[in-house]
Amino acid sequence: MSDKFDIIVLGGGPGGYAAAIRAAQLGARVALVEKDRTGGTCLNRGCIPTKALIACSSLYERIGNARKFGISAENTTIDLNAVIDRKNAVVEKAIKNLEVVIRNNKIEIIRGTGKVIEPGKVEIESVESGKSTVESRILILATGSSPAPLPGLPFDRDRFLSSDDILDNRTPLERLDIVGGGVIGIHFAQFYASIGCKVTIHEALPEILPGVDEEIVGLVKRVLKRKDVNILTGTRFEPSKAEGETLICVGRVPNLSGIEALSLKMDKRSVAVNDKMGTSMKHVYAVGDLASKKMLAHVAFEQGVVAAENAMGGNRTFSYDNIPFAIYTSPEIGCVGMTEKEALAAGKSIKIGKFPFAALGISQAVGEIEGKIKVVADEAGTILGVHILGPEATTLIGSATLAIKNGLKLEQLAETFEAHPTYSEGLQEAALNALKRSLHILN
Ligand code: FAD
Repeated sequence: MSDKFDIIVLGGGPGGYAAAIRAAQLGARVALVEKDRTGGTCLNRGCIPTKALIACSSLYERIGNARKFGISAENTTIDLNAVIDRKNAVVEKAIKNLEVVIRNNKIEIIRGTGKVIEPGKVEIESVESGKSTVESRILILATGSSPAPLPGLPFDRDRFLSSDDILDNRTPLERLDIVGGGVIGIHFAQFYASIGCKVTIHEALPEILPGVDEEIVGLVKRVLKRKDVNILTGTRFEPSKAEGETLICVGRVPNLSGIEALSLKMDKRSVAVNDKMGTSMKHVYAVGDLASKKMLAHVAFEQGVVAAENAMGGNRTFSYDNIPFAIYTSPEIGCVGMTEKEALAAGKSIKIGKFPFAALGISQAVGEIEGKIKVVADEAGTILGVHILGPEATTLIGSATLAIKNGLKLEQLAETFEAHPTYSEGLQEAALNALKRSLHILN
């Protein structure tokens, strides 16, 4: 006899565990089926491990500048073995914390590979306990995505590596080719270049970081070039010419294995969903990388919550408007809303405000003077987008998101007090600049 639940969630990454937790909070009896470790790509192979690595390389770089701060720290070295051990410990801790939250919400974690055999019925296969089935009226699919190889060039874990493979590399690399200048490729370029590896990025499109404001891309290219990163754009990577290890970061493909029996309507390679995260089949929802136009953990969290609330009788919708994103270069990038180019292409008359971090007292004091904040607003002053390269950009973008989501105007941002001296003053100053009322730079 199979176990019965109100909701079965297939996949324990950000989309799946957020859905499970929200459904449990609303009183559902929930099973969370996961074939691997809890936390999905984000905790195990994505957001958290990459940032744990970059934390080490950034500190290493900063120590390299110690003399400017009156500190002598000669002959500093970085031990990749210790860096990977620390990364693994960070991941381990994050998974343990998450599992406590999941269990305290009285969610049953079922370990094994799930296969939907018919609507509402999932067969689970695990090495320890063999096959079993679980049933529920509602299914939330959250099986995520996996690295896409280059056509005709499978990952071999030796010369042609995926982002999963390189995360545990303990061998210092003299050189690394990275195919793909998107966010994931740039994260690894940042890490390896900072620890002394000669990195070449190969991007087939005319520019790296598609979708990022052109001015910010220009700034980040300058930063990367200073780290001796070779950026080749508009050229196809030729595998036969690769000399050492090559990291392939050309996108990710949704994981459809285990859900084929449902014959769901597709949207290209993803499961098609409506704005309530419902699929073409009643009582079946899909969230996160499996069904998303933006493969981001915070998108997956929100989609999971929306699906869970709707599954429990709610009426929530998900929108792709104004989703912020963070890129952990050094300095960081944070962006939300329309770029200048997008606003112009949408036929808007726009106002632009800019402020360089070098003009902030805190930047001078801390020695973080690189970068700028750029605000895009429409003619009436409504803020459409904010684009930042600079210290703590990934945190600063939160205030910008709040402003845009609530339809704030330049005046409201300009007249909001910011503590002095802080990087947040830059946001206020960028709004003042758009209004031709700058205090610390000339208009
Ligand atoms: P996943 O996290 O992929 O989880 C899906 C889960 O389902 C997996 O645990 C898988 O084992 C399980 N599963 C699949 N099939 C089955 C089955 N049949 N039975 C049981 N279990 C199954 N996003 C950000 O927002 N910020 C970042 O800084 C960021 N950095 C990233 C860096 C890298 C290197 C990578 C690769 C990704 C990064 N991402 C980042 C993207 C982010 O990790 C994903 O968008 C997010 O993890 C998607 O969540 P998900 O729940 O949809 O899928």
